[in-house]
Amino acid sequence: MPLALGAQGALAAPPASSPAAGARRVRPGDAAWPDEAAWQGLNGAVGGALIKVASPFAACRAQPGAPACHVLFASPANPWAVGDDVALTQTFGWVGAWTSSPSVYAVAARNAADVVAAVNFARERRVRLVVKGGGHSYQGTSNAADSLLVWTRRMQDVTLHDAFVPAGCAGRIAPQRAVTCGAGALWAHLYDAVTTRGGGYVQGGGCTTVGVVGLVQSGGFGSFSKAFGTAAGSLLEAEVVTADGQLRVANACSHPDLFWALRGGGGGNFGIVTRLTLRVHPLPETFGAVNLTVKATSDAAYRRLVGLTLDFASRALVGPNWGEQLRFRRKNTLQVSMVFQGLSRRQAVAAWQPFFDALEAEPNAYELEFSPLRIVATDARSFWAPTLFKRTFGFIRRDDRPGAPERNVFWPGDQAQAGQTLHGYESLWLPATLLGNDRRAAFADALFAATRHWSVALHLNKGLAGAPAAAIAAARDTATHPAMLEAFALAILGAGGGPAYPGVAGHEPDTALAARQSAAIERATSELRKVEPEGGAYVAESNYFQQDWERAFWGANAARLRAVKSAVDPRGLFTTHHGPGGAA
Ligand SMILES: Cc1cc2nc3c(=O)[nH]c(=O)nc-3n(C[C@H](O)[C@H](O)[C@H](O)COP(=O)(O)OP(=O)(O)OC[C@H]3O[C@@H](n4cnc5c(N)ncnc54)[C@H](O)[C@@H]3O)c2cc1C
Repeated sequence: MPLALGAQGALAAPPASSPAAGARRVRPGDAAWPDEAAWQGLNGAVGGALIKVASPFAACRAQPGAPACHVLFASPANPWAVGDDVALTQTFGWVGAWTSSPSVYAVAARNAADVVAAVNFARERRVRLVVKGGGHSYQGTSNAADSLLVWTRRMQDVTLHDAFVPAGCAGRIAPQRAVTCGAGALWAHLYDAVTTRGGGYVQGGGCTTVGVVGLVQSGGFGSFSKAFGTAAGSLLEAEVVTADGQLRVANACSHPDLFWALRGGGGGNFGIVTRLTLRVHPLPETFGAVNLTVKATSDAAYRRLVGLTLDFASRALVGPNWGEQLRFRRKNTLQVSMVFQGLSRRQAVAAWQPFFDALEAEPNAYELEFSPLRIVATDARSFWAPTLFKRTFGFIRRDDRPGAPERNVFWPGDQAQAGQTLHGYESLWLPATLLGNDRRAAFADALFAATRHWSVALHLNKGLAGAPAAAIAAARDTATHPAMLEAFALAILGAGGGPAYPGVAGHEPDTALAARQSAAIERATSELRKVEPEGGAYVAESNYFQQDWERAFWGANAARLRAVKSAVDPRGLFTTHHGPGGAA
């Protein structure tokens, strides 16, 4: 069924030179692989921005002891440095699933015209095409062997608007504060421009080195999503190069189906976004954090701790003021890493007092790790700024390369993911009904049972139950699985190791450990599925081997996504692992 793409009309039929859907792409060594003159032609078309990519992994296989290999596999790594290397992705691989494989050539695009040239080249020459922004895909969808990469790292301009109206929407959408960024912008760039310098709030992700475009296409949850909704829900407009090489502006008034699909339909599936514009919200006065650890002295005490934590969470934490994680760890330990917005420190302490009272009622059952900084608050405007206080107490880190911009910051908790090797991963949206009086005890049993196998982190900011109506309405009008609208949290279970790569002596992935850990994650998840058998998974943070993945990632939205995919890219120029309409 042809799908009208909006006010500017349906897409033209793809050129005859396009590869047939599912057709094999040409590879180096094939007779049809473009010759040197063809690549030089592309290089000319993109103003010399074509890079012949050298694989540092191949070099380390040959010489594992070389100093460059020591740096590559050093842990902890600098996520900014990993992102600045055209040949690398933040995750080096996932045991048994994928291994980071540099492209043969990359266009380090400077502008939309470069992207158009690369898309046309790949389509006409039948070369495999891949696009990378922040490079944080857990599924490995921004790297592909034998391919041409469109690398957007250089497209990092950021512009603030006082009164933005999407193109063609005058009279339909009121002017509003907004921010436009290039396709290579990372969230640290937007937080610096919008919050630290601009005094506003943009809904992005928790990790500052994730790409803006990648996160928006994932759906996108940040620490304060329970107040402001998803990043996709804040998208006002995107400029996209589609498979036919056309540059299109997609918004609520122009190409609305494409616009909808870009909001949660998964990165790299519908075209290459060259810039996008997001709503800017008023900034709350304060942001803060609650960090503490509670250790139970027995299994029975831990089961009671799980129960009293869920009791407390259902009364106090499922609402716009709170976000981030309650981590139910193995070894009978609860780790609280929560954030809050719009509350003073005093209000936050008062909110947690009933929890502390419940612990103190059983002094022999629980040990509370004390830290004078366990509840802190700051003025919201300095939340993402690398202030002396935050650097001194280790709350934030900076890119430590000489001359790196001050805005290159990251949270210490994300550092271990730079260069990581994944062993296993699962996510599951948990509906707020699990916290009802009739289901909470059974849910606590399931959660406790899961922790006998693996740790479970409940990300309260990654489900919108308890969010304001406007945030829910905006998120409902996106492609993200509707289960997230009624979820109080997303459960995430993950395991991984440090930087490793198959075939590099001394740095091989630990496949036996990976097998044990992924099996433990499966057992833990199946305990949770006993109380939520149909739960969806978050496409960007999910199992590579997800069964029934279209239903799991997009639920009732999967059919519409397939229709948009076949309208905008009928011949499958853009393909990713488990992309809408793709093969399992
Ligand atoms: C350490 C870490 C922390 C994370 N934290 C969060 C979090 O707090 N909240 C959350 O919601 N998610 C989080 N994620 C998941 C993250 O949002 C997704 O993996 C996201 O897609 C990454 O975007 P990227 O640009 O960094 O990655 P990339 O790997 O570059 O891109 C991701 C996908 O988008 C495609 N893409 C990139 N640029 C473009 C473009 N210009 N046009 C079209 N397609 C493009 C790629 O081809 C790929 O398929 C986290 C991931 C990591 C590794």
